[in-house]
Amino acid sequence: MIRFFITILFTLIFTVISFGENIKVIATIFPNYDFARNIGKEKAEVILLLPPGVEAHSYEPTPRDMVRITTSDILLYTGEDMEPWVHRLGGNLPSSVTVSDISQGIEKIKDDDHDHTDPHIWTDPILAMQMVDNVAAAFAESDPKNSEYYIENAKIYKNKLFKLHQKIERELSDIDKRSLVFSGHMVFGYFAKRYNLTFLTPYRSFSPDAEPTPKRMAELITTIKKRGDSYIYFEELIDPKSAKLIASETQTKILLLHGAHNLSKEEFKSGKGYIDIMEDNLKNLKRGLKNE
Ligand SMILES: [Zn+2]
Repeated sequence: MIRFFITILFTLIFTVISFGENIKVIATIFPNYDFARNIGKEKAEVILLLPPGVEAHSYEPTPRDMVRITTSDILLYTGEDMEPWVHRLGGNLPSSVTVSDISQGIEKIKDDDHDHTDPHIWTDPILAMQMVDNVAAAFAESDPKNSEYYIENAKIYKNKLFKLHQKIERELSDIDKRSLVFSGHMVFGYFAKRYNLTFLTPYRSFSPDAEPTPKRMAELITTIKKRGDSYIYFEELIDPKSAKLIASETQTKILLLHGAHNLSKEEFKSGKGYIDIMEDNLKNLKRGLKNE
């Protein structure tokens, strides 16, 4: 009998302590993390699973990550092609964890062989708005009493994303040149489609582990010389050796186009968000396309 009351007492104490506690959200990559913190604000504790500076595609969760995931309320991921390990986990997570694929409802670009789909949906701010809706839906499902709060925050953030889209469209509209050389993997497919741009890249892969072929590198060098480009672009968090090689062969300068998969330690500390990254990308894009 005493033991029964003690159990009840502890249950009550635990309930009181956990009442009003923030919901715990695990985000696999940076865009999910940034969208989640803009929606959850002070009502959520959002954790980015990727340590700052780590490449996103080859990431596998550690045992410590698995503990964090199983004790969380929400796990946000970007789809089977970006985080295949979440798919493998399948139904092995406790039912208390709301697992949300935030690419739901988005039509993906397929590769030439139709074997893979391009996971980089967040590079298009309009598709990012759909991702934000999916994040808000996961929050509302996991914490229904605050659903209106989350949906309202999502609305405010989507408004900022739409303004970003309008700015990109406006500032690129008077530039005739629509193609550029990007030395990274195929990150900007959705961005290029939205803004009518062509990214020439030595890679043919949606993931950065492939090596560019010498033939493709030579073709790009010829193209740059013929066009007289002043700049070529490299991607974040990966040694830009292909970019440096092409730049030295063509006397071009290199500029960053940030794919936003993850941030460096310095960027993370500075509190940079997805919109800041895209604004920086726009500045660099204009410089390159205008050959300034
Ligand atoms: Zn990628």
